[in-house]
Amino acid sequence: MIRKKLDTEDLIREDLVALSKSIYARPELGYEEHYASELHVALLEKHGFQVERAYLGLKTGFRAEYHSTVPGPVICYMAEYDALPGIGHGCGHNILGATSTGAGILLQKLMGNLGGTVVVLGTPAEETSGAKVFYVEKGAFDDVSAAMIAHPGTGHYRSGSSLALEAIEFDYKGKASHAASEPEKGVNALDAAIGTFNMINALRQQTREDARIHGIITKGGVAANIIPDDCAAQFYVRAKSKAYLAELVEQVKNCARGAAAAAGVWLEIVEYEAGYDNMVTNQRLSDLYSAQLRSLGVTEILEPRKTYGSLDAGNVSHVCPTIHPYFPITEDREMAAHTKEFGVCTLSEYAEENMMITAKALALTGAALMKDVSLLEDIKKEFAVAEK
Ligand SMILES: [Zn+2]
Ligand SMILES: [Zn+2]
Repeated sequence: MIRKKLDTEDLIREDLVALSKSIYARPELGYEEHYASELHVALLEKHGFQVERAYLGLKTGFRAEYHSTVPGPVICYMAEYDALPGIGHGCGHNILGATSTGAGILLQKLMGNLGGTVVVLGTPAEETSGAKVFYVEKGAFDDVSAAMIAHPGTGHYRSGSSLALEAIEFDYKGKASHAASEPEKGVNALDAAIGTFNMINALRQQTREDARIHGIITKGGVAANIIPDDCAAQFYVRAKSKAYLAELVEQVKNCARGAAAAAGVWLEIVEYEAGYDNMVTNQRLSDLYSAQLRSLGVTEILEPRKTYGSLDAGNVSHVCPTIHPYFPITEDREMAAHTKEFGVCTLSEYAEENMMITAKALALTGAALMKDVSLLEDIKKEFAVAEK
């Protein structure tokens, strides 16, 4: 019955493809996605969703809801639509967002007299200072029973893990002076920045294998004949768990403190972007999603990708059962994300086909949870005891 109804939902394919392609053609960076969020909102409103624009004060965020007349679980699909500087939709968030909005609309059509609420959450700026972090802090997921998001990739990969991340900036202030005639009157801020890198490089020998520390010097002085008085470096520090990340961040900060002390430089430490928590996949929810994929004819569902990236969906996974699987937009398994070529793949018919299968599987997962409360109970039980 449900399957038959879904076939008729191929009708929305045209709308979703147009949504994805329009956003691809007009890439917008994080928190500037006005055009993209408005397109999502317009489509959701067309299908009877009630939409709160500028959700929780984020101008390019939104929360779209559709309530059944009967109470039941709250199923949330998270839409992303931000692009990358220089390469546009090289992470494919144009098709990602369309898949989530599509899942929301499809579940709304499937709900019938099942009880519950469908939420499509517009989550800006995944690539930089992800809105999901802020949403979590503000309690946006407090009523959510299950949160789902499927990312474009090179195959149907099960939801896995991601590294927790902190973004730290070191600002070093010294004293300028003529570098040749009066160097002794200067205090060299660049020495402190370079010293920080050297100490971090020494630290690497003692870090766990999941540690990732990578940085750049964003301010390194203005001219070679002036002792640099104002320098800055930005780092991302990542690790598998929040606990180990906290340890590692303290060690990295100590490297900067030590280097600043050695150079006699004043140091300020700031978190320049939101920190991300590690992704904790709810395995029962993930199994349920895989079962829906199989029911739609997908035969190859791969084990989670071994990835050392970070996701703002990680924060969501710490407050409610969450999955973040991948779906294929290309048959080339070696195709790398964050490239122009990857973005082009989102325009193919192959990608459209898999977007529809994925949106349907996400919607069927939501419908299954609305139909059978025991499934959700099991998912909640796992969430309660899962190691974060
Ligand atoms: Zn990305
Ligand atoms: Zn992405």
